[in-house]
Amino acid sequence: MPESKQDSIIQVCLNIRFTDHLDYLCDLNTTPLIGCRVVVPFRRKQLVGIVIGHQQNQNKRQLKRISQHIDDQPILDKSQLNFLKKAAAYYQLKMGEAVFLALPHWYRQIDSKQLPMPFWWQINSEPATVEALLKKAPAQWLVYSKIAELGPVQTSELKKFNTNAAALCKQLAEKQLIKKIEQPPPHETITTGFELTEDQQNAYEFLKTHDHSFSIHLLDGITGSGKTEVYIRCIENLLIQKKQVLVLVPEIGLTPQLYEQLHRRINARIGVSHSALSHGQRALMWKQTAEGDLDVLVATRSGIFNRFSNLGMIIIDEEHDLSFRQQEGIRYSARDLAVLRASMMNIPVILGSATPSLESLNNALQKRYHWLKLRTRTNQQQLPKIIIKDIRKKRVNGGLSSEVIDQIDTHLSAQQQVLVFINRRGWSPKMVCQDCGWVAECDHCDAYLTWHKQVERLRCHHCQSVYSLPEFCPLCGCQHVIPLGDGTEKITDTLNSAIGPERVLRVDRDTIKTPKHWAIAMNEIASGKPRVIVGTQMLAKGHHFPKLSLVVIVDIDSSFFSGEFRATEHLAQLLVQVAGRAGRAETEGEVVVQTRHPDHPFFVRLLQQGYAAFAREELKQRAEQGFPPSSYMAILRAQHQQQNTLETFLLEIEKQLPQDQAVNVFGPIAAPMFIRHKHYRMQLIYNATSRQALHRLLKHTRQIISTQLNKTNVQWLLDIDPVQMN
Ligand code: ADP
Ligand code: ZN
Ligand code: ZN
Repeated sequence: MPESKQDSIIQVCLNIRFTDHLDYLCDLNTTPLIGCRVVVPFRRKQLVGIVIGHQQNQNKRQLKRISQHIDDQPILDKSQLNFLKKAAAYYQLKMGEAVFLALPHWYRQIDSKQLPMPFWWQINSEPATVEALLKKAPAQWLVYSKIAELGPVQTSELKKFNTNAAALCKQLAEKQLIKKIEQPPPHETITTGFELTEDQQNAYEFLKTHDHSFSIHLLDGITGSGKTEVYIRCIENLLIQKKQVLVLVPEIGLTPQLYEQLHRRINARIGVSHSALSHGQRALMWKQTAEGDLDVLVATRSGIFNRFSNLGMIIIDEEHDLSFRQQEGIRYSARDLAVLRASMMNIPVILGSATPSLESLNNALQKRYHWLKLRTRTNQQQLPKIIIKDIRKKRVNGGLSSEVIDQIDTHLSAQQQVLVFINRRGWSPKMVCQDCGWVAECDHCDAYLTWHKQVERLRCHHCQSVYSLPEFCPLCGCQHVIPLGDGTEKITDTLNSAIGPERVLRVDRDTIKTPKHWAIAMNEIASGKPRVIVGTQMLAKGHHFPKLSLVVIVDIDSSFFSGEFRATEHLAQLLVQVAGRAGRAETEGEVVVQTRHPDHPFFVRLLQQGYAAFAREELKQRAEQGFPPSSYMAILRAQHQQQNTLETFLLEIEKQLPQDQAVNVFGPIAAPMFIRHKHYRMQLIYNATSRQALHRLLKHTRQIISTQLNKTNVQWLLDIDPVQMN
């Protein structure tokens, strides 16, 4: 490489795992600013990188030269880079890993094209004259009249009426009957007729006096207590101060509902971002929050990485929800990152939930978080009563006792809706031989196969392998292989025959594959027709179904035998959340739990004393057992096709780690699912009494791996604050 006095050295971070940044040469007079993207050569490839620093005194001789500039203005600002640096340190990531986790996919490409800008259609003609004109083109007329009716409207909206709307609009525009506008139309907002409840008022007043600087608020409000209304008031307040608000929700499915609620009430530019959007659409949201073109962003977990011009508050709705944790690839918690980001930006963060996580409750108890409680429902209804149905001696055909089916029928006849909750897809979670006990297992995982009757296939829910049904038991050769246990398919079938398929709606990942399916299902429910909805956890969260008066919970017993130390916490949250879907409007709610363990202390505690008391007791037990949140945990997860290689890898690390009084390291032990996708899986578990000590040891672990074990091809990752052992 030619070296000259006119060169400068820049630190570029790339999406690589062994170093935070690499140094490159560039012309002194075109030195890119920190936060800009450049293209650099790396191992015979050209990669996009982000400039994170300038280097002064170093030997320039061996350095390579950057190949290309992409930005002249930073794509990541200082505040964001600082945030990512801290996040990387916390999750034991290299800077590049954190930066490329944050950066939208669109911007990771070498030649990202011009972003598609949003636009709206508006009529450009008199509807009365157009009707005659389009007499022979009914589809065009339909779309035209929808545009006339709904005012400026986006193509996506029109697709609800005709899936071909994009092409039809183009034809209408060519005839100059409609035109594009690029400014979002002004919209009317409504004011509510109600006053805040006393609890809401208190919480709101408190938040109002704390909305200028870093503070953490746990908005602990029972289901239906009006948490959203508190968010809305807080957002309005921030908007007056010309600040932006980020609202994170756990599921894509919750974004339309919240968007609608906010849009109806708040006169502001509101955007939505989640992983079902195209890369371009997500990048657009990023650009718009960065440039101050959006006031409020409703997003799923990755929204925590958006760039904002003037962020003033972060709200995490359903903060206890596991979906805020990324569980594939790099593990992080959007909730915990929100707290970090808020502290670095000196802004408040609100964590809302009816069933706060034990972590957050612990923080509230220790006065690290402000604890704001909403204890009354806005409709003055009691929380639904939960009835435990002992099914040990009952005849349970197809997963539901006949009593429960009668009860469902009664609610439907009263024009109400019913939710039958079962957290398992497919027909049955197991296929077993009645003669010898053989169970169908996946060839690549330590897991049973689920029977999907509709498609007549056995499926592994862990590696997605598909098998056909064996005609004979492979072990004893008999023909008595039968499905065992209940899934959504079977329950749906039972209900279809008991009350008629036209009154049954199944909502799980097999029936709902796209946001469009979701919208159709939600519309069906919202129409208020009497329906039984058979659903998985997709439906357990924050939804508001006014007509829902009965919730049946089919099978939660398996959670009692889980090896996860958080299992009961999650079960309690799920139960209270699902129950909370009932009786949210004019009707009182009922909840029925079918179980073979009616006397389990779990039910006794949760149902007699409520979630708050349950949680306190659970916290006490965690403290006694030395589990989080009383301790700080991390897991080094590793996998390899050879068990020996894997074990040696982990043993070596364990051997070399220094002794530390504050940290216990267990392992190597097999992961609860030892084989998955043809890989053996093992782990080291770190459990510490001090966060600093834990991080010291984790840093050490990384060092050992990168200096001494970098030649092994064992796949590994560090899971900080794990939520699951598996
Ligand atoms: P949560 O999120 O706490 O479960 P929501 O915010 O969804 O509860 O509120 C439940 C319902 O109560 C919503 O339809 C909302 O419009 C309504 N609501 C909120 N606050 C009040 C109030 N103060 N008085 C009457 N209705 C209210
Ligand atoms: Zn057999
Ligand atoms: Zn499998």
